[in-house]
Amino acid sequence: MSIRCLFQPSALHWAWRTTALKSTLGRQQGVLRWTHSGGHSYRAVIFDMGGVLIPSPGTVAAEWEVQNHIPSGTILKALIRDGDSGPWMRFMRGEMTTEGFLEEFRRLCSEIAKTSVPVNSFFSLLTSEQVTKQFPVMTQAISQIRAEGLQTAVLTNNFYLSNGKSFLPLDRKQFDVVVESCSEGICKPDPRIYQLCLQRLGLQPSEAIFLDDLGQNLKAAASLGIHTIKVVQPEAAVKELEALLGLPLRVGIPNTRPVRKTMEIPEDALEKYLKGLLGTHDTGPMELLQFDHGQSNPTYYVRLADRQLVLRKKPPGTLLPSAHAIEREFKIMKALGNAGVPVPTVLDLCEDSSIIGTPFYLMEYCPGIIYKDPSLPGLEPSQRQAIYAAMNQVLCRIHSVDLQATGLDSFGKQGDYILRQVQTWTKQYRAAETSSIPAMERLIQWLPLHIPKQQRTTVVHGDFRLDNLIFHPEKAEVLAVLDWELSTLGDPFADVAYSCLVHYLPSSFPILRGFRDMDVTQLGIPTMEEYFRMYCLQMGIPPIENCNFYMAFSFFRVAAILQGVYKRSLTGQASSAIAKQSGKFPEFMAELAWDFAIKEGFRVFKEMPASKPLVRSYHAWAGSRPQRTPAGVRSSSTVAAASPSQETKGGLIISPEGLSPHVRKLYDRLLEFMKQNVYPLEPELQRHQASADRWSPSPLIEDLKEKAKAEGLWNLFLPLETDPEKKYGAGLTNVEYAHLCEVMGMSLYAPEIFNCSAPDTGNMELLVRYGTEEQKARWLVPLLEGRIRSCFAMTEPQVASSDASNIEASIREEDGSYVINGHKWWITGILDPRCKLCVFMGKTDPQAPRHQQQSIILVPMDTPGINVIRPLSVYGLEDPPGGHGEVRFKDVRVPKENIVLGPGRGFEIAQGRLGPGRIHHCMRLIGHSERALSLMKTRVMSRIAFGKPLVEHGTILADIARSRVDIEQARLLVLKAAHLMDVAGNKAAALEIAMIKMVAPSMAYQVIDRAIQAFGAAGLSNDYPLAPFLAWARALRFADGPDEVHRLTVAKMELRNHSRLQEPAAPRV
Ligand SMILES: Cc1cc2nc3c(=O)[nH]c(=O)nc-3n(C[C@H](O)[C@H](O)[C@H](O)COP(=O)(O)OP(=O)(O)OC[C@H]3O[C@@H](n4cnc5c(N)ncnc54)[C@H](O)[C@@H]3O)c2cc1C
Repeated sequence: MSIRCLFQPSALHWAWRTTALKSTLGRQQGVLRWTHSGGHSYRAVIFDMGGVLIPSPGTVAAEWEVQNHIPSGTILKALIRDGDSGPWMRFMRGEMTTEGFLEEFRRLCSEIAKTSVPVNSFFSLLTSEQVTKQFPVMTQAISQIRAEGLQTAVLTNNFYLSNGKSFLPLDRKQFDVVVESCSEGICKPDPRIYQLCLQRLGLQPSEAIFLDDLGQNLKAAASLGIHTIKVVQPEAAVKELEALLGLPLRVGIPNTRPVRKTMEIPEDALEKYLKGLLGTHDTGPMELLQFDHGQSNPTYYVRLADRQLVLRKKPPGTLLPSAHAIEREFKIMKALGNAGVPVPTVLDLCEDSSIIGTPFYLMEYCPGIIYKDPSLPGLEPSQRQAIYAAMNQVLCRIHSVDLQATGLDSFGKQGDYILRQVQTWTKQYRAAETSSIPAMERLIQWLPLHIPKQQRTTVVHGDFRLDNLIFHPEKAEVLAVLDWELSTLGDPFADVAYSCLVHYLPSSFPILRGFRDMDVTQLGIPTMEEYFRMYCLQMGIPPIENCNFYMAFSFFRVAAILQGVYKRSLTGQASSAIAKQSGKFPEFMAELAWDFAIKEGFRVFKEMPASKPLVRSYHAWAGSRPQRTPAGVRSSSTVAAASPSQETKGGLIISPEGLSPHVRKLYDRLLEFMKQNVYPLEPELQRHQASADRWSPSPLIEDLKEKAKAEGLWNLFLPLETDPEKKYGAGLTNVEYAHLCEVMGMSLYAPEIFNCSAPDTGNMELLVRYGTEEQKARWLVPLLEGRIRSCFAMTEPQVASSDASNIEASIREEDGSYVINGHKWWITGILDPRCKLCVFMGKTDPQAPRHQQQSIILVPMDTPGINVIRPLSVYGLEDPPGGHGEVRFKDVRVPKENIVLGPGRGFEIAQGRLGPGRIHHCMRLIGHSERALSLMKTRVMSRIAFGKPLVEHGTILADIARSRVDIEQARLLVLKAAHLMDVAGNKAAALEIAMIKMVAPSMAYQVIDRAIQAFGAAGLSNDYPLAPFLAWARALRFADGPDEVHRLTVAKMELRNHSRLQEPAAPRV
């Protein structure tokens, strides 16, 4: 089945399931031609029920155990415990009620499993409609047997249900005789019950065949003289029965239907063509059916005389030149067939459209098993393992085909397969895009930067999945690989990864069933990693490390394909109703792809060799300068450009010199801007903050904002990850912004000038990530333009707000609005007259689970009921004009649509908001520290005490050295966190983010404190930025969560990783 067809409703069931070829059945039919064999004349077939007509309790139990994490084999052990006198046998003899049985059985199972076993759930499953469907092959066989005038019987060990009826989920009309253990009070293998059955059939034992899945039941029947067939697989058992009876029992071609009106082909012309081709003079009507699937390339079953064929053609109508290239399918299958790869045997390619209207090709029909469900229900773990091993093996065979010898060396381009695929699917995705999918945007950026070097070029199948393989009915052997529509030459690992997609899809996934929710090890299926290893071993190549890249690529490709299908469904070109509901699938696939990209990024990061030591030249701060002027430009004499590998592989850029030319230009422009415009104005800005006008914004700041905007130094903070299309920000990575943010951190006034200050940055990021288009238009746009400001209201005086789940403010739904009541404090920015938006956190449902009680809602600051009580101060600093306010919200009514993301999502949003915010704070703190150290160095070189410059005193030197080391350590950790956020995502960087939030404020506090000490009393004054820096560094040990909370996070993660590196147990002495 082509992946392109996934959305077609029929494809949800099965794609040309038994499409192919090599008519083993045909040949058998030819041999048997339904003569009675062995001279026997059987007159009845007796069927057991569970394991023969419907799945056996043992199989149902095994799967139920996997899903419910019950030790494997528990149920089976309990079923046979105490033999004849055990609860199961007594239940089946009708001696126990359902309730009584379940009680005793629960006790027994729990004793065996040494844990509580919910047997009721097993019993419900066992008797559910879901598992009691009669095997179609058996239904077909029974009706054929009866059509031939033979009798049928069911002889079952069964039980009474609590409604008083016996458990017999079969159509009784199929049987001449029904013998049930619960009503007879006798169970198999007791010979009496077989005799009873024979008696009711009116037959001798030798006139009957008995089918059962249990050896002991068969043995008992055989000892009476009944012929027996052991049922392992219904299909194989029916084949055996056919041989014994000499009757065809499997009629009809699975998954076919009469040809659809719109898909009719001229039968006479086809028949004439086939007779010519096959040299068949045999008469008899040609039989033509259509496979349910194959809308992409319509596929037909054709029977002519004793030949069974499959015809595959192009669809009618105008086609894109490269689409539906059945000629390519024919070519590859022919070449591979000759090279010994199991493919359907192709017979003929007819490119003459005059015969049936379009070109077509023919292959032989091949019956066999196609496993629809990749979890292989009903099989033993060892069988599953063998099936997957066979699948892996056949893939190796495909990838080992000699391209030159088979003439396939021009079947596709050689080399750069993945890159070309990424480009192709990106283009196709763009053409079909209906709305922005963030994960897709990230992948479009990320994939080209991480393309592995292609080691080999082989035939690639392009859609290699279990359900495109026909298996031998009795052994784990692939008879044919189907659907070569997407085949080409390429990187073989793409096929390996593609076959593992099902490992990560849920079993309920509507378009492609997976088994992510099952324990593959218990099932016996190799994990993705094992499957890759198995492949490498079989191919004789070293194991690969970047399988996560290939998984990311495969999911990306599927996402792009599904987006195309969805788009077509919207424009009405696809017929499937399901397609219309499927807008979410591309995003789902893209997110899975991004999860793998994160894993790959994390692996690359961890394995990255130490970067080339790029030099940061600290000693080159531009000579002595006025004391209020901060450290200037770092020397660029030691610039080492980032090597291409650092850029592509995501090497850590530890110095601004390593930034790309574009970002480096921004960095230099920013330094210059600070030097020319910010530092000189600091005294004036500080005077404004101490004046009576302090609660109004300084006009100087407003002027500088315009200037910064004009120079492109605006909204630099929004990370590429949140804003992949650079719709809102400068599109910098976190590492790039880290270097720039540090420069902004040199002045407390700078961040606002560049529209990069908290809490606006966090609020803007929140709106970009989670806001609706209306919310963005109303709030995000003016914030991005710097026309308004905002605040974030979470902390409350009456509860310990370190634990956000404590927050008590209420957000109550009333008459189509939300009504807010609460008391908040430390709300930064709320006093600013430009503050128009309050991002408010409160509880919408105090009864919900702990982390789903809170919601975040957008509150316009001019809503009645908001009362700012007072500004709070940090060590006496009020931080005007934004300040940090205490505020009451009384019956504040806001429209319902102001809720962000929906009720109960507050916790999740707050977490998402704080991650990037934390790292920005830390970057700025590095800036504070650098400036403090620079001021200190200038000061101690010019002041003399006890006969020499302060700088010559050992304690001062020690302090300078200590500060340099402290800053350096913290910066590296901050950059590591930023880098990890870029290559592996915010989630993967959670530990590093918590660590820097622990480290940076304390480090900055100490560096600034040493600078203050070196300054003498002047350091405490407002003449220098040191005192406010110190206050801010101290405050940041609380803001965004106190140190202790971050320590807790780090410790918890550390302990979680403990098992990885456990010390060996101490030897006993
Ligand atoms: C300058 C500044 C600006 C701020 N801006 C904002 C803002 O804009 N919006 C906003 O909503 N809030 C803001 N805050 C508030 C800040 O987020 C909170 O102060 C912080 O979350 C701590 O909450 P709390 O003050 O209620 O302390 P509590 O929760 O009462 O905690 C007190 C102390 O208990 C200890 N503690 C807490 N948890 C643990 C633990 N797990 N293990 C060990 N010890 C623990 C810590 O020592 C902690 O400092 C700001 C704070 C400051 C100082």
